[in-house]
Amino acid sequence: MSANDAALYDLVIANARVFDGGGGPEYRADIAIHGGRIAAIGAPGGLRGRSREDARGLALAPGFIDVHTHDDRAVLDDPGVFNKLSQGVTTVIAGNCGISLAPWRAGREPPAPLSLIGAQADFRFQDFAEYLDAVDAAKPAVNVAALVGHSTLRIAEVADLDRPADSAEIERMRERLRSAMQAGAFGFSSGLFYRPSRAAPNSEVIALASESGAHGGVYASHIRDEYDGVLDALDEAIDAGEAAGTPVILSHHKCAGPANWGRSVETLARIDQRRRRHWVGLDAYPYTAGSTVLDPDYVDEAIRILVSWSTSHPEQAGRDLAQIAADWNLDQKSAARRLHPAGAVYFQMREDDVRRVLAHDRTMIGSDGLPHDAHPHPRLWGAFPRVLGHYCRDEGLFHLAEAIRRMTSLSADSFGLKRRGRIAVGLAADLVLFDPATVADRASFAEPKQAAAGIHAVWVAGVCALRDGRATGERRGRALRREEERHGG
Ligand code: ZN
Repeated sequence: MSANDAALYDLVIANARVFDGGGGPEYRADIAIHGGRIAAIGAPGGLRGRSREDARGLALAPGFIDVHTHDDRAVLDDPGVFNKLSQGVTTVIAGNCGISLAPWRAGREPPAPLSLIGAQADFRFQDFAEYLDAVDAAKPAVNVAALVGHSTLRIAEVADLDRPADSAEIERMRERLRSAMQAGAFGFSSGLFYRPSRAAPNSEVIALASESGAHGGVYASHIRDEYDGVLDALDEAIDAGEAAGTPVILSHHKCAGPANWGRSVETLARIDQRRRRHWVGLDAYPYTAGSTVLDPDYVDEAIRILVSWSTSHPEQAGRDLAQIAADWNLDQKSAARRLHPAGAVYFQMREDDVRRVLAHDRTMIGSDGLPHDAHPHPRLWGAFPRVLGHYCRDEGLFHLAEAIRRMTSLSADSFGLKRRGRIAVGLAADLVLFDPATVADRASFAEPKQAAAGIHAVWVAGVCALRDGRATGERRGRALRREEERHGG
């Protein structure tokens, strides 16, 4: 159908302020949806549908793409994924930081940081294709694109994690990755900072990133060091992508630890310099605190640390480590040892760095939310509305069309999601309707499980999944497969 046909569309969203995702000026239009796709874009009042939604001049944007998630298991166990849907997110990219639920080798206990996404019983997919089928069977509310984690591959194939993989082990990891890429994975992620992958030299990473690149995938890197060695670690990640001929995504870019505050001037200059020769993208979340497992080695007694979960002392979740240590008459490292296994929020960044990174023209928004934490970092519920409300509207860090671009087309283009991330005829009808004047994050470090304000409606594949802050119960997301997403409408 075209805009000129008299035929009725499934739905017309009328009188919208359209932000098409590309970063250009907004325009007033009616958007027609048919068969799960955007079928026509017309002048206000010009399109007719079997049902009609009056947007009343609210902002209509492509559904947001959360490029940095650890939702691998969450989309199976909690397919409503309300923490993301309520932010206007319609697609999540799972499997970041070297951590993916598949492909797993049965009978192994997942060590930290894989424990962030599940226990042994949850790691049940030996085959990546089985995992994608399980996502489809769970009918999640949002779409899921998944990366293959280096640590997951290492645990499956490397006999001793404290040494580099030998050539036979690299070959077996490559075979697993190849099979996952053929099944529909979007790329390879690593987390050289973490114990299971720390012993890996860049040659090992290059071999695996090459396999991803050969299938059109990306290499996403949680770099080896976000503290004093951040420049060398950025170079290492970009070197790997360049040698492999694979686009590089630098995950949750930050300058961590008081000694490195202010250094984003240097790191972004280095990234820009490297970009002249090779494709590099980055993602960030809009907070000065990070979150991961609680490891005594990360405890420096200098920054505030908030405990997000503890298996041995669940009652301590939501309390500051310093307070817990004082109550127990211990130093913080010893308290961290007693809380093990546990997770924490680390107030490790400074505001000027966060702003500088968010404002960089290649920065996509990724929540890095940890969905299984008892007292999670508020980014899980608030990352997208915080960028739109706090940083865009209230602080003027960028204009609205630019904020939206960082959540939609930039993200889709960077990860090869050609059917999403823009409002254009033929693309998937994943859309969010929100009020730019009221959109805001309500999740805080004290009260982290709070849905956003100002998100009026969310459609996934043309079906309304959220209205006025409530899930409708419609769950039309699915596992995305790289080959199917390579071409637009
Ligand atoms: Zn990470």
